[in-house]
Amino acid sequence: MAALMTPGTRAPPAPGDFSGEGSQGLPDPSPEPKQLPELIRMKRDGGRLSEADIRGFVAAVVNGSAQGAQIGAMLMAIRLRGMDLEETSVLTQALAQSGQQLEWPEAWRQQLVDKHSTGGVGDKVSLVLAPALAACGCKVPMISGRGLGHTGGTLDKLESIPGFNVIQSPEQMQVLLDQAGCCIVGQSEQLVPADGILYAARDVTATVDSLPLITASILSKKLVEGLSALVVDVKFGGAAVFPNQEQARELAKTLVGVGASLGLRVAAALTAMDKPLGRCVGHALEVEEALLCMDGAGPPDLRDLVTTLGGALLWLSGHAETQAQGAARVAAALDDGSALGRFERMLAAQGVDPGLARALCSGSPAERRQLLPRAREQEELLAPADGTVELVRALPLALVLHELGAGRSRAGEPLRLGVGAELLIDVGQRLHRGTPWLRVHRDGPALSGPQSRALQEALVLSDRAPFTAPSPFAELVLPPQQ
Ligand code: URA
Repeated sequence: MAALMTPGTRAPPAPGDFSGEGSQGLPDPSPEPKQLPELIRMKRDGGRLSEADIRGFVAAVVNGSAQGAQIGAMLMAIRLRGMDLEETSVLTQALAQSGQQLEWPEAWRQQLVDKHSTGGVGDKVSLVLAPALAACGCKVPMISGRGLGHTGGTLDKLESIPGFNVIQSPEQMQVLLDQAGCCIVGQSEQLVPADGILYAARDVTATVDSLPLITASILSKKLVEGLSALVVDVKFGGAAVFPNQEQARELAKTLVGVGASLGLRVAAALTAMDKPLGRCVGHALEVEEALLCMDGAGPPDLRDLVTTLGGALLWLSGHAETQAQGAARVAAALDDGSALGRFERMLAAQGVDPGLARALCSGSPAERRQLLPRAREQEELLAPADGTVELVRALPLALVLHELGAGRSRAGEPLRLGVGAELLIDVGQRLHRGTPWLRVHRDGPALSGPQSRALQEALVLSDRAPFTAPSPFAELVLPPQQ
């Protein structure tokens, strides 16, 4: 990665600088803290913020002196003008230091690992991977996020399980790791509170797709976890925050580089996000599919990503000699029920009635469905022609589900947890006209004309012979000295 500069030096355009403008601001020698309008103006005009500026902004966010409009304006200025690596690194630290640093028993030092995603459609990997890694002997103190833009959030998915409590104190997290080996929690007043505020603001101000904001948001949460290794799943493709693989690779390198500069061992996997991951999209439906994966079954692309990312983590943290050996261990934890056992313990430890946790983890798919929130109606769409399924575009699907209540348009808005869609087909298979290919779960009235059209256009058919869909995994960007 590019060397980080000392505070006050002027930034040359850096590989992680997506501003397109370079850094035009001169260092400000004044020790006086600047007012927010001045900081916003500086960034709006393409200037670079000093460490004191960034810390001043984050402090104002946390102590409530920054108005919502000022937060939104600063986020938009950063989104449009970018930040260099040093600014991004300082922002990451300032967010992390807005709350408590987690501390663990010394014996856990080499065991602490985590995974995070830049956001996808149908991406329920974290739900499966955290318990699978716990079953492989790791401790996984996962601080996760809510839905962002059109992408779904791990916390929202888990909240579709009645009783599941994502707010846990640092002390409770240690108990959870003791009992289950993993926990999945949200940021809170104690844990990275600044990220909680900025994250919710980004979701409703069209500032999600910002390389420095994504980097600081993800790494701040992971920095406080005191990890031995982290893998970030950086999505690219039509439904990813960065559709272009080059840009996604730039984000991957920034995550790895900023992580290394802060003493965090980060690898980044580039994975395709054109079609939904697995067959289910929507909170409760995704929990069901995650359970299926932990039964050793479920869609191959989901299992493939879980084992690939888990294998990389076990290798990076020294629990496996190679990535392939790590992947085999994760696969075994899915097949022998040990991941599911950890998931059940995590549910019970995080507030789910133990009887319900047991029933969810031991029931059949049909029994599980009765235990989770369900939408009022189901509506099937039929294939408009014969053909081979080339692709099911995830973005239009996610946008329609967002309209049906699966996503937020205002910060804090409640979600319809049963709303979602099930793909009834696989990419690569032959499909005949009139065959149902998508089942939409909705609470409201029938799909509107534009919604049905958008969904039908998501189905891409071709004349070629049936094929096996490729793995979503494309490449792994490793930390220095791996
Ligand atoms: N996950 C996060 O925590 N933050 C982002 O900005 C994107 C994904």
